[in-house]
Amino acid sequence: MTPTNRENPIHPKFIVGIEPPAGRTEKALWFIFRGRDILLKVNKNPGAIPKLQDIGELGLPAVREQYLGMLEGTHCFSVEFPADVRAPEGMKFVDLRQAYSEMSEGCFELVNKAVQVMEWDRTNQFCSRCGAKTLQKPGERGKECPECGELFYPRISPAVIVLIRKGSKILLARSPNFPPDMYSLIAGFVEPGETAEEAVAREVWEEVCIGVKNITYFGTQAWPFPNSLMIGFTAEYDSGDIRPDGFEIEDAKWFSADELPVLPGKISISRKLIDHFLKEEGLEV
Ligand SMILES: [Zn+2]
Repeated sequence: MTPTNRENPIHPKFIVGIEPPAGRTEKALWFIFRGRDILLKVNKNPGAIPKLQDIGELGLPAVREQYLGMLEGTHCFSVEFPADVRAPEGMKFVDLRQAYSEMSEGCFELVNKAVQVMEWDRTNQFCSRCGAKTLQKPGERGKECPECGELFYPRISPAVIVLIRKGSKILLARSPNFPPDMYSLIAGFVEPGETAEEAVAREVWEEVCIGVKNITYFGTQAWPFPNSLMIGFTAEYDSGDIRPDGFEIEDAKWFSADELPVLPGKISISRKLIDHFLKEEGLEV
């Protein structure tokens, strides 16, 4: 069962909540989405996330809302808007990838939570087993089918990401979808029945055709593209010559610390792994 009204030991300022408060009179933070765009205030002072007593103040037709919990005593909600809604005056819808690159890590963590709760709510309105309308499970972040009893909890997809070292160089690769000149680390989803370490070795082999050894855990990060838990590793080059697969990876090279290309944003675990490498090389980050 999801704990409610209990302090989170990692982010003590945020308390997860499931049941919305009754008789609320103070302003709450509203994480509002249209597809995967988030509604932000144009004037970011004192923050980009809209703070309102009620979502109805915007005069726009919300599809549905979910209560998230409390941030330092302020209630937080996620809201889904219809695809054709326009931003109210003084606000704009921003693509989530663009928005996260401009956010603090603390704000990103909440947006991440909000968008995943919103998408779980949107995509589990009906039972995928029998088609009946699902019901919210009281006191849990879950839905239940009243016909067949199937349960639907937010789905999290484990993915691995790895920094591969060869002497004083690291492997960086480019996906065709990346912004111009940007390179990052090899990453991919864990397959059913596979360990995270096996996924690292397989993804590296499939995408750039090299072998790795000494696969070592680094850390994890929740990542909302689309609902991943990124599991970070370091590894060492073992064998083979780089051969990009030409689909997921269009180019991959060994880079030394003083000739790095454009890198992912500071919040990402990819960048944290690269910054860790730079520190090991004795460079300021
Ligand atoms: Zn069902």
